[in-house]
Amino acid sequence: MSRPRVTRRAVLRGALGVAGTLVGVEGTAPAATLARYARVPWGRLATGLDGRLVRPGQPRYREAALLYNSRFADLRPAAVALCRGSNDVARCLDFTRTHDVPFALRSGGHSYGGYSSSVGLVIDVSALDAIEVDPRRRVAKVGAGAQLIDLYDAVARHGLLVPGGTCPTVGIAGLAMGGGIGVLARRYGLTCDHVLGARAVTAAGDQISVGAEEHADLWWGLRGGGGGNFAAVTSFHLSLEPAGPLALFSQRYPWTRAAAVLEGWQHWIATEPEQTWSNCQLFSEGSSGLVVQVNGVYCGSSTDLERRLAGLAGLVGPASSSFVGGDDVLEAMKIEAGCASLTVAACHTAGQWPGGVLGHEAYAAKSSFVGAPEDRARTTKWAGAVERLARDAPTLGGGLAFDGCGGAINRVAAAATAFVHRDKVALVQATYSWGSGSSPADVVAGARWLRWLGTSVIDPAEGAYVNYIDPTLTDWARAYYGSNLARLSRVKAHYDPTDRFHFAQSIPLETTDA
Ligand SMILES: Cc1cc2nc3c(=O)[nH]c(=O)nc-3n(C[C@H](O)[C@H](O)[C@H](O)COP(=O)(O)OP(=O)(O)OC[C@H]3O[C@@H](n4cnc5c(N)ncnc54)[C@H](O)[C@@H]3O)c2cc1C
Repeated sequence: MSRPRVTRRAVLRGALGVAGTLVGVEGTAPAATLARYARVPWGRLATGLDGRLVRPGQPRYREAALLYNSRFADLRPAAVALCRGSNDVARCLDFTRTHDVPFALRSGGHSYGGYSSSVGLVIDVSALDAIEVDPRRRVAKVGAGAQLIDLYDAVARHGLLVPGGTCPTVGIAGLAMGGGIGVLARRYGLTCDHVLGARAVTAAGDQISVGAEEHADLWWGLRGGGGGNFAAVTSFHLSLEPAGPLALFSQRYPWTRAAAVLEGWQHWIATEPEQTWSNCQLFSEGSSGLVVQVNGVYCGSSTDLERRLAGLAGLVGPASSSFVGGDDVLEAMKIEAGCASLTVAACHTAGQWPGGVLGHEAYAAKSSFVGAPEDRARTTKWAGAVERLARDAPTLGGGLAFDGCGGAINRVAAAATAFVHRDKVALVQATYSWGSGSSPADVVAGARWLRWLGTSVIDPAEGAYVNYIDPTLTDWARAYYGSNLARLSRVKAHYDPTDRFHFAQSIPLETTDA
């Protein structure tokens, strides 16, 4: 069953047309750097791997180098190791230590900041994608490179589910380590709340098991501390939930009521039972105009959902168009992913998966949380921000998506896992995307808009989501980790004392907090 909604993926969607425009933010490797890593004895690594080492000029290098966000299409790693198992990951880490080569770990390649690429070696675990489900114990062993749609599919075959995110091609490693917020999170919690343990290769090259009984501090850090910080994870143990019926809805409202709908929606979702998940989207479709839309998923029947929606209507008024329908979990996840009419195989990225048809996207984003339902003055400001994007950059698509939090997410204490944002009403993501029809001037205007939003509308005290990692954020460590930052630094210092797992926003070895 499909429904008339613009998913987050669709809001972000853009073709490759002007992809290079912002690449310079993170930078293409300067020629001197490339020459330096050209002299590294890569052949020795290649012969020691069970998987393949791909270097510039070799077949499939372009596909292997590519990240999901085509804004980073110009990044050219000196080599990509397509690992076959944890021994390959250990060999890569050993090689980079011996030859002093920078590296980045990559699972699904969806890092918003491009932090899963490197001028040196990309250690790609995407082939470590085996999923073993134990339906009796309701647990799954999941390779660190498994993509979300395959995980949803594998567990759904046993009548089970795991709460995750919307994008079908996101890797479990990045998602779970940063938190994992999705349409089932108010009912079942975050993906990281389902991580019972992991296998990892440390900076010292040790292959360890992580969980409540072993390396418990690292287990704590891997659940919300963000990918790429402590060790290379090769697999996760996840707890699963029994899957029941789901009902989905999508409602549109006239733009003139945008501020009122956002205000009413925030009050509604804050008091809804945890079976209800919903988001409120305010976005510009470029020349097609401005849209305000409320979507959601209810863990229960369509009839019960209709009753919940009557409460929403009482707060925001009638919708101008409405869709309500029931579905099973896998179909619901496909609808949320924007690939309702596709097979699971097709619901992958073209060129990087046999039969995959999905495209790459060029986009930039920023996030914040909403701590308590906001008043009309505040929601008017949010709506005005989207109008400003439409005015300043009419050939871009973009806007704001408020995803409901609370419920099971907030039942976990802020210090129980590294994911600290356990008292929020909503997570807001601001995005703009561009494609072949976008003017380069508008792409620059979009970046200006996001900067303005960060300084004039977003409240920095509300924090930010590490999985929407934002290279332009200044006080990023405090925004992502809040009161958990000092403990994260201690975990980092213990497992990676020389900061080998380093990138522009990796957890610092020391903080000023006690
Ligand atoms: C279209 C789209 C939709 C999204 N929707 C959601 C959503 O609904 N909910 C949500 O919570 N998030 C969502 N995200 C954000 C997503 O969760 C993050 O971007 C996540 O970090 C991506 O993980 P990845 O493995 O695909 O990315 P990667 O770029 O491969 O990795 C992300 C980070 O983890 C590190 N890493 C990768 N593999 C490993 C490993 N094996 N061991 C240690 N570190 C590793 C990388 O170095 C990098 O720093 C979305 C992203 C996109 C692009």
